[in-house]
Amino acid sequence: MNKATLEMLTLARELAGQLGTPLEAVVIGEDGRDAADGLADYGVSKIHLVTHAQLTDYAPKAWARSLVQLAEQEQPAAILAAGTERGNEVLAHVGAIMDLPMAANCIEVSPGESYTLTRVRWGGSLLEEATLSGDPKLLTVATQTISPEKAAAAEPLTWSTFTPTLTEADLLVRITDRVEAAGDKVSLVEARVVVGGGRGVGSAEGFAILDELADLLGGAVGCSRAVTNEGWRPHTDQVGQTGTRIAPELYIACGISGAIQHFVGCKGSKHILAINTDPEAAMVAKADYAIIADLHQVVPAIIAEIRKAKQPA
Ligand code: FAD
Repeated sequence: MNKATLEMLTLARELAGQLGTPLEAVVIGEDGRDAADGLADYGVSKIHLVTHAQLTDYAPKAWARSLVQLAEQEQPAAILAAGTERGNEVLAHVGAIMDLPMAANCIEVSPGESYTLTRVRWGGSLLEEATLSGDPKLLTVATQTISPEKAAAAEPLTWSTFTPTLTEADLLVRITDRVEAAGDKVSLVEARVVVGGGRGVGSAEGFAILDELADLLGGAVGCSRAVTNEGWRPHTDQVGQTGTRIAPELYIACGISGAIQHFVGCKGSKHILAINTDPEAAMVAKADYAIIADLHQVVPAIIAEIRKAKQPA
């Protein structure tokens, strides 16, 4: 089960406890069956497995239609999803079908007739207090903000199967092909070390030393938007407001100025090391450690030291 789902379940369990209602999960498609067993550890007492011959892959409106039909049957107090692109997209469709408001990227929820919420806006640079009405309440949980925590005791798990009624109109948007991103073996979201490169790297070829460093550290390479704009790296590598949010143990930001739109994507990092020629760069001010020097000298020197340290004595 991915981390964003476990983060969401942690908040959902707290909410269910306040509401005095059981926590139930929806798994769409047979493929999710195996992963779902571990959900009991997070307080889930029942899993609704949604199956349909057409639900073989992601189709946002069909997923939403399924959730709406299940909700009509089960009458939940609230429907939560992880604040991922998918979670936000599906729940927005649910809101549109049910003509209900939906609150995205919440980090705190207090129930009542209307719910009082805190949610992150502008990629995390603003926290907004909001109220949410509607029945059921629809909300997603911001990723990388809540630590996933198991329940004190696992619930005995029951399963039920639900088959929705879908039409062709529900399946207009669906996955027809999948092209795997080349490159990183470790995912940017899950990596414990991320080596980020900015405009200061200078070229697509310049990233070779960052790839090498990331490989040595078992990490992933990220980049700034300046880099994706230049076409040096794909958008899947971009960290920031309009890219991926990361939370590694260590973020090594090489030749990145630290603009707010980039920083909101990496501020969840436990430690930041900035390598920058400009001592006044915002990233240097925000970092835990900084090396004021040319990254083209510093990164190879770090690589050489790591290789030396890894050599058998
Ligand atoms: P620059 O700002 O040009 O900085 C380059 C840095 O490299 C400088 O600090 C310089 O001192 C240093 N440098 C140069 N040469 C060297 C060298 N040889 N060695 C070491 N250091 C060197 N940006 C993102 O990254 N992610 C986003 O998701 C994102 N979303 C955005 C959304 C919106 C709506 C907008 C308006 C902007 C967004 N941006 C985003 C862009 C952001 O504002 C910055 O323009 C961008 O982050 C700058 O990238 P950079 O730091 O690589 O480049």
